[in-house]
Amino acid sequence: MNEFELIARYFTRPVHERQGVGDDCALIDVGDRTLAITTDLLTERVHFFPDVDPASLGHKALAVNLSDLTAAGARPRCFLLSLSLPRADSAWLEAFSRGMFELAAREGCELIGGDTARAARIAGQDGPVTVCITVIGEVDRSCLRGRSGARAGDDLWVSGELGDAALAVAHALGQVRLDPAQAQACRQRLEWPQPRVALGLALRGLASAAIDVSDGLLGDLGHVMERSGVGGRVQVPDVPRSDTLRRMEPQLQRRCLLAGGDDYELLFTASPADREAVAATGRRCCAAITRIGTMTKEPGLRLEGDPGFDATLRGFDHFAGTPEA
Ligand code: ADP
Ligand code: MG
Repeated sequence: MNEFELIARYFTRPVHERQGVGDDCALIDVGDRTLAITTDLLTERVHFFPDVDPASLGHKALAVNLSDLTAAGARPRCFLLSLSLPRADSAWLEAFSRGMFELAAREGCELIGGDTARAARIAGQDGPVTVCITVIGEVDRSCLRGRSGARAGDDLWVSGELGDAALAVAHALGQVRLDPAQAQACRQRLEWPQPRVALGLALRGLASAAIDVSDGLLGDLGHVMERSGVGGRVQVPDVPRSDTLRRMEPQLQRRCLLAGGDDYELLFTASPADREAVAATGRRCCAAITRIGTMTKEPGLRLEGDPGFDATLRGFDHFAGTPEA
């Protein structure tokens, strides 16, 4: 059972709200407003290394949630913070809260509550740090957007560059050697992701569907195709990547680019008739955006321009390949 089968089997029920499980944000109507709500959990050794800079962890815990809001084109409003910590370490807490509040202030999003607990020691060892943030945003009801709106013939676009965060992980695990400047640049992408809030908002009414790339392009594009009932074609050489990643050997480059995760870029579809308007929107938001493919009537994903592609590559899945109880 993979992560998404698990969610579908045990936690997906019909709801009376505007949107339940299955998209980047849930949507609920309150009076004449619609709120977008999303939550993300980061846990030590799974999502971050034990020696992580606490300021970057505070930043990232909020950033990954704001990134889900970008998919819905929501304006961030407020958030809740739940923490499980092995001890009350003032220096750690000072840095963590600083990293988190700096981003919160920049995006106009206020902390309104949460929960705090101590992580139990296990076999004489500190329990893991776990951070869970739930963020609430407001969406414009006249132009709702999620994973399900892509149409055959739409252009497929992505913001920024993909793969450097995964390259940073490969470097930290000793799978690849980067020089100090390259390692630092990739680590910055891994630890200080910058959610595309302004772009997500500016694409309201233009993007037909959107998802933030958190689990790798292949997996996240797969979610859009499935929810929209369309297929896709991606020109692999067009997928934007840094010069550092471009210099890596092809297999590692593909893995980071297409199946890496932790990019927090915006993947979206739009009508070819709006191509100029989309490009202008990217320029207005100072966000590089690149057209990388097309949505198709025929189901399934075709990767073009890369004959060496390994068909077993998949997006990240927490339970893939783990034994079932
Ligand atoms: P994202 O990567 O955008 O955070 P996920 O891929 O983690 O989204 O989750 C897919 C969908 O499943 C989302 O709509 C999410 O809200 C939902 N989901 C994940 N875990 C649970 C859970 N334990 N209970 C209910 N819904 C869940
Ligand atoms: Mg998401």
